[in-house]
Amino acid sequence: MSNIVAIVGRPNVGKSTLYNRLTESRKAIVDDFSGVTRDRHYGHAEWVNRTFTVIDTGGYVANSEDVFEAAIREQVVIAIEEATVILFMVDVTTGITDLDDEIAALLRRSKKPVHVVVNKVDNTARYDETCIFYALGLGEIFPISSMTGSGTGELLDEVIKGF
Ligand code: GDP
Ligand code: MG
Repeated sequence: MSNIVAIVGRPNVGKSTLYNRLTESRKAIVDDFSGVTRDRHYGHAEWVNRTFTVIDTGGYVANSEDVFEAAIREQVVIAIEEATVILFMVDVTTGITDLDDEIAALLRRSKKPVHVVVNKVDNTARYDETCIFYALGLGEIFPISSMTGSGTGELLDEVIKGF
């Protein structure tokens, strides 16, 4: 069984940007199912000779706030079921939102290893703002910039330890 790394979090935190970086130039292996799977992209990634599957969640088609939040929750529940490791992405530029707190509560109740990934840490000033995310109660945090790739090596070193 392949190791599966699922990226979850609310919209616009940068999940797809990280997914694209991790699966760069690799072909998506599943992309044409209906319903729940339509909101998920699967790709191959590799780090230090370990290959794994990355799942990008998002792209929700929802017409109200409630449906929208339910869709995010559903993706988190599926990730808890099928992922080896979960990357919970948050955004240093917005801080912790209500939806972040809700997702964190779901993840705290799961037995799956979760890494809190604080994205958009593009410079050292932003690095100083990352410690607030310890308040999510999910342990260690990993500051990264999906845009520049900064911090992603340290994150992946830790992720593959969970395989
Ligand atoms: P998703 O909705 O969580 O999949 O988020 P996206 O990957 O689509 O990114 C949302 C927005 O955040 C886009 O405009 C990205 O260019 C931007 N973004 C993603 N990663 C970074 C980052 O590391 N730094 C900055 N400054 N912007 C980022
Ligand atoms: Mg996306």
